[in-house]
Amino acid sequence: MTSPADEVVTLASELIAIDTTNPGTYGGPGTERPAAEYVAARLSEAGYACEYVESGAPGRGNVVARLPGADPSRGALLVHGHLDVVPAEAADWTVHPFSGEVRDGYLWGRGAVDMKGMLAMTLAVARHFKRTGVVPARDLIFAFLADEEAGGVVGAQWLVEHRPDLFAGATEAISEVGGFSVTLGGGPRAYLVETAEKGSMWLRLAARGTAGHGSLLHTDNPIATLAAALARLDAHRFPVVLTDPVREFLTGAAELTGVPFDPADPEAAVARLGHLSRLIAPTLRDTATVTIVNAGYKSNVVPAVARAEVDGRMLPGRDEAFRAELGRVLGPGVEVEWSSLPAVQTTFDGPLVAAMGAAIRAEDPGARLLPYMMPAGTDAKAFARLGIRHFGFAPLRLPADLDFTALFHGVDERVPVAALEFGTRVLDRLWRSC
Ligand SMILES: [Zn+2]
Repeated sequence: MTSPADEVVTLASELIAIDTTNPGTYGGPGTERPAAEYVAARLSEAGYACEYVESGAPGRGNVVARLPGADPSRGALLVHGHLDVVPAEAADWTVHPFSGEVRDGYLWGRGAVDMKGMLAMTLAVARHFKRTGVVPARDLIFAFLADEEAGGVVGAQWLVEHRPDLFAGATEAISEVGGFSVTLGGGPRAYLVETAEKGSMWLRLAARGTAGHGSLLHTDNPIATLAAALARLDAHRFPVVLTDPVREFLTGAAELTGVPFDPADPEAAVARLGHLSRLIAPTLRDTATVTIVNAGYKSNVVPAVARAEVDGRMLPGRDEAFRAELGRVLGPGVEVEWSSLPAVQTTFDGPLVAAMGAAIRAEDPGARLLPYMMPAGTDAKAFARLGIRHFGFAPLRLPADLDFTALFHGVDERVPVAALEFGTRVLDRLWRSC
């Protein structure tokens, strides 16, 4: 019989070949249905009863299946992943982003890292358990979801609101953006586990002025008002706040590298992390980044309004302080509409964390786990509303020199074949015992 590690690459490759580019139109029609049907077929042929749920808009397919565990009195473990991917421009890539090609020991394609590799690992182990009669320690709920890349409006958030029954009894969840290895200072490998996510705050800005002919003198051009506010925002640095997950991460990193960590100067510790600092630096402070500007319609007309959108991310507990500080920076001439999703955070302890460490060390002796905070958001935010603890743990043992975080949403996204096989073995061990 084929082992889960034998089929994981085929499953991942076939999933990548189904183009599930998120249209990015919040709540609009989508592309996930064929991938959801593929997942449902792979689960059904192994013996699962799957539920296919189209959430709120055409094509937004989700699939949920459950494997009963030995102890029904224990809370279930939810394993969730998203079917959608961000767009890819084929002309920029070495291989076609939707080919799912294996080359030079890597599986290439949009979603290899984020997150069809993890979907394939989940599918491979789920199929193996069902086919061979493995009974996990507790119920496992497998959820393959639409629309994570646009906030889960017609994916996880929709299901949590309309079909919470699908996740009944779940107390903990594992999913993306964690579990991958990093090598710090030549020490033993460390595997990052996401235990927190910054909150998300989307701002729509508007500056208003007097419309008129471009040849005349103007003192309240809304484009100039908005541009000045955006320049202030871009130059602004929010204060450094050392939160528990970041402190734990930096303390662990200091132990691994032998370079002490000074809590009074966490920025210095982060600067020593090499390319990993890209992921950790934004978790020292709130951020607010302008991403869209819109104004004007003719070169000789001053418009009455100029608009912009800002992607804000705030540390746990900072919502009010963030709003107040941002309002001061933007100034009185700019109207702000806010919408937000709160930060999520759990502690790095308990039997599940111990089981993750044991499963990793069984495959990579001497390795250790480090908790960290994600600067962005995932579907964990939706499941937190059901009181479910979240851990980012999609295990991959990576080469020390691979700049892995650059591959998320990046050109030439790819994952080592050996890492997918490793992760499959780790998840197989974890789900039997946890
Ligand atoms: Zn993702």
